[in-house]
Amino acid sequence: MTDFAADSILVHLDVMPSGELAKSAAGLLGAAAQVGTPVALIVVGEERRDAVVAAAGELGAAVVLTTGLNGADTALTVPVVDALAAASALVTPDAVLISNSIEGRDVAGRFAVRSSSALCVDAVGVARDAEGVLAEHSVYGGAYTSISAPTFGAAVITIRQGAIDARAEAVASPVVVPLDVAASGLPAATIESFDEAVATSSRPELRGAGKVVSGGRGLGSKEKFALVEDLADTLGAAVGASRAAVDAGYVPYSYQVGQTGVSVAPQLYIALGISGAIQHRAGMQTAKTIVAVNKDGDAPIFDIADFGVVGDVFTVVPQLIAALEAGKK
Ligand code: FAD
Repeated sequence: MTDFAADSILVHLDVMPSGELAKSAAGLLGAAAQVGTPVALIVVGEERRDAVVAAAGELGAAVVLTTGLNGADTALTVPVVDALAAASALVTPDAVLISNSIEGRDVAGRFAVRSSSALCVDAVGVARDAEGVLAEHSVYGGAYTSISAPTFGAAVITIRQGAIDARAEAVASPVVVPLDVAASGLPAATIESFDEAVATSSRPELRGAGKVVSGGRGLGSKEKFALVEDLADTLGAAVGASRAAVDAGYVPYSYQVGQTGVSVAPQLYIALGISGAIQHRAGMQTAKTIVAVNKDGDAPIFDIADFGVVGDVFTVVPQLIAALEAGKK
């Protein structure tokens, strides 16, 4: 019987269809290590188990609870919530950390209801005080940080992808604990068929990307938006957009950054021809370094930019690309 540390933090790690741990794993374990001892839970088929356990150890999981799929390949969410319930009963953690992905939010919400826990969504940081684990949120377009301080039980916290820089120390041989999961039999959406979408882009995915280059209405047309993509490719960055650029049809909705789009927290965010409306800022203001190019020196994006260029994107960006290319030689 494994003894779990009194300050254990239970971390649910997603496994991708490719069989690898999701990119969010490093930040989740990093966050857990800041406030306690990370204990990972991985729901995975037996053939992938050893590889993902080793990967979790490298990212700082001292203990890894593993359980088979228990129907997670044929039903959405409920099998993972069942596994979390079993893991939580075993570990009695101080908090439960889950990625703020679409699936993660679903799992977290259901698990919080089932365990009568406080739910703190889209946290950009965690901390601890005398009473337990706290979640930090970036609110009102990033203008304020609010703290959730649950007063009972272990908080269930979803962590924004890319928001946590801290990394836990690697553990060479994590303790592996097989978990017995009793299926709750609660209703779940059934997966009838499964098609793996083949990425047609070699660019990083926007959610969780380390670098993002976004374009706004200032690009002027779908054709001219290619300039944003050129700079992104030069930097190895993901491409994002403002809602105005999406509404104008320059790029699909999946590119939209902001309150009603994707929230990103990259190391570098470059905003090209974007005014910086509060709804856009809500999705990118926690980026570590913000660079803006806008021909209007009074554009609100400059209020939050670390580096700003007042100029025409069609003049500035080609020069920037040329300089970056020259630097690579
Ligand atoms: P604009 O505000 O039109 O700004 C274009 C900028 O480009 C200007 O600052 C201009 O000076 C500059 N420019 C023009 N030409 C050039 C050039 N050649 N070189 C350099 N600069 C140039 N917006 C989002 O982005 N994401 C959201 O999720 C979102 N959700 C919303 C939800 C609600 C409920 C509402 C009401 C709005 C939402 N919006 C959202 C819309 C938001 O309010 C703004 O309208 C939008 O962000 C503006 O996009 P933009 O900056 O590209 O366009």
